[in-house]
Amino acid sequence: MSANAHAADLDALLAGLNEPQREAVVHGDGPLLILAGAGSGKTRVLTHRIAYLVGTGQARPDEILAITFTNKAAQEMRERVELLVGRRTRAMWVMTFHAACARILRADAHRLGYTRQFTIYDQADARRLVKRAIDELDVDPKRFTPGAIHHEISDAKNKLRDAEAYAQMVGSFFEQTVADVYKLYEAELHRMNAMDFDDLLVRTVNVLELFPEVRRRYAEAFRHVLVDEYQDTNHVQYRLLQLLTGGGADGRLADYGHRNLVVVGDDSQSIYGFRGADIRNILDFEDSYPDATVVKLEQNYRSTQTVLDAANAVIRNNRGQREKELWTDLGVGDPIKVRELDDEHAEARYVAGEIERLVDEGVSRSEIAVFYRTNAQSRVLEDTLVRAQIGYQVIGGTKFYERAEIKDAIAYLTMLVNPQDVVSFTRIANSPRRGIGQTSLSRVISWANTAGITIWDAALDPDSVPGLGTAARKAFHRFMGAMRILGERAAANPPVGELLREVLAESGYLEALEAERTIEAQGRIENLEELVNVAAEYDLSAENSDEGPSLAGFLQQIALVADADGRRDDEGLVTLMTLHNAKGLEYPIVFMIGLEEGVFPHQRAIEEGGLEEERRLAYVGITRAQRDLYLTYARARAVFGARSYAARSRFVDEVPMGLTDRSEQPAHGVGSVRARATTWGSPSPNLSPLGSGPIPGGGWDASGGSAGGGTELRLGDDVFHAAFGDGVVTGVEAGGIVVIRFSRDGSERKLVADLAPIEKR
Ligand code: ATP
Ligand code: MG
Repeated sequence: MSANAHAADLDALLAGLNEPQREAVVHGDGPLLILAGAGSGKTRVLTHRIAYLVGTGQARPDEILAITFTNKAAQEMRERVELLVGRRTRAMWVMTFHAACARILRADAHRLGYTRQFTIYDQADARRLVKRAIDELDVDPKRFTPGAIHHEISDAKNKLRDAEAYAQMVGSFFEQTVADVYKLYEAELHRMNAMDFDDLLVRTVNVLELFPEVRRRYAEAFRHVLVDEYQDTNHVQYRLLQLLTGGGADGRLADYGHRNLVVVGDDSQSIYGFRGADIRNILDFEDSYPDATVVKLEQNYRSTQTVLDAANAVIRNNRGQREKELWTDLGVGDPIKVRELDDEHAEARYVAGEIERLVDEGVSRSEIAVFYRTNAQSRVLEDTLVRAQIGYQVIGGTKFYERAEIKDAIAYLTMLVNPQDVVSFTRIANSPRRGIGQTSLSRVISWANTAGITIWDAALDPDSVPGLGTAARKAFHRFMGAMRILGERAAANPPVGELLREVLAESGYLEALEAERTIEAQGRIENLEELVNVAAEYDLSAENSDEGPSLAGFLQQIALVADADGRRDDEGLVTLMTLHNAKGLEYPIVFMIGLEEGVFPHQRAIEEGGLEEERRLAYVGITRAQRDLYLTYARARAVFGARSYAARSRFVDEVPMGLTDRSEQPAHGVGSVRARATTWGSPSPNLSPLGSGPIPGGGWDASGGSAGGGTELRLGDDVFHAAFGDGVVTGVEAGGIVVIRFSRDGSERKLVADLAPIEKR
């Protein structure tokens, strides 16, 4: 390529950027922080900077290390870079933290006593190993589950606390147990030449810390290190970046390294605190790197002003946000559509109906995304979309009926109607773990074949199975004892929802998950609750059919729905995912569903002080929308087969009325619902002595003769309240309700303007 063509390429590259973006892209050496709101082109700056460095010859492709958080994000970044620089992308390291570390360790882990062929244990393997350590140490597994202990060990590793350091900080019996298990677990891993996921990061840090020559080698190899979504890094990742680039304020590392570290992020989008991510990594970047160049990006290229205003209004309710002014020239756009539906089915039908309408208008399904808080929420939606023949994909999660716990539960039920089903039997025999190993299982299966009896009957009488040890025989007795009781129950043809609940209890399945006390297990429990809901729905609908409800009928119905999965569609697929998976992505049309207190914000977050992280998650969700945003919630929803009523999410109320087309009627039973919110013990911004539930109609201006009597209050007015002090009007609703944010404690309260002791300043 000629020099001119080169120059033209570079010009074209820079032409697609605004001034501060360009500044970041052409930034010379040294640390650079880009702290900016959603959709302001942070990821674009990274990809363009990579192309620029390569295009100007400042770096060879193999001198670039670009890190993102998920495989999907890494793949997207690689594609974007490839569009700019073509095949040269191949030599670059564009990958997740874990992938980069695994690669480094393949070359250098021998220094720590591993061989090149070390094994990587996934979560399940690691958990099994923890369990073995627990058994060896004679810890009561009922008291402290492998899951809980593994979680604690993982947490320690992410803080770079090894077994020894952990042991020195022990403050409780639980921690002492963890310390013992941790020590043994580490020894075992090492003995087996294996690493768990956390080790990939920790061992890389170890190698770099212990061997200056390795540190130098990588620091020289990666002349430029770029990190996306930096707000979600945890301590070990922070340390790793320091080591790779020559460190920040840490004097010991000052002797080497280029310090060409570019990080981009948005503190308002930090959503992985529950996994040890430390928001301070981004907020304190300038302390660690006092000479860092800081670039701010303020123009949003993604969303309409309405969407941005909504996102900003919501996030403003968090304390300690860095103020960011985002603007867009994409115009005001359409109001946000807020919909209240009777229940989750009506909600799903509404979403499906809107999707059909939009597709009729020429929108492609691939332009539409639906976000929800927990995986389990996708199920009703999936069923409805299947029925409406709308093609969809579930990102970052498995489709509902393909999830392990759902398959397990269905296998239990199948076993009850089909005692010959060896596949189902194999699936559930040791799930949850009950001491039935692979060998014993094979013995029982082959005995059933030899004796010409069903697997059920063979397992029922383990004493007759040749070669089965005492422990295994006992385990089969216990397992089949429970199965027999369940079989008798099933024979009486009870409602399937009830039967399933009994299966989950009697089999010990639910108990095992509850004992884990991890986020993952919580998600699985929610999915199982959702399956109970499916069964309860089936019972209801089958009652009116000729055949009536039956377990076989239920299993047949779900087999058909599950089979409809995985078909391709040329008109594109609607994308379904949890809010956590939505990070970094954008769609013209976004639905956020299930906006109810207890669902989103999640009940656990309400109880455990995680509200600000939930709100950031809401901010992430809202800012994915380019053009149209829908916020929907249900008045009632089924939880574990029972109806439950919830108030609409505070996040809906934090979006100013005037940005929405809110038109709902006063919700039924909302008064009592709000009362329930108080029993959750969290200060709801909507509750005050003079508070009120949602008010019909509404707009920006409550003049209409209602608000404030003589003193008409308007949005933005400064006011003084006799008890709460200074505040500003952040919302005015019909019926004489004003929303005021008080500066003293940052609280937002709904007050009846006529009655509250407010003065306009
Ligand atoms: P998030 O915080 O959600 O990760 P982000 O800051 O990484 O967002 P990008 O995804 O890089 O933002 O950019 C958002 C959208 O705006 C993308 O479609 C991008 O191509 C576009 N964009 C960014 N900057 C410009 C620009 N200068 N000109 C045109 N389009 C731009
Ligand atoms: Mg991004």
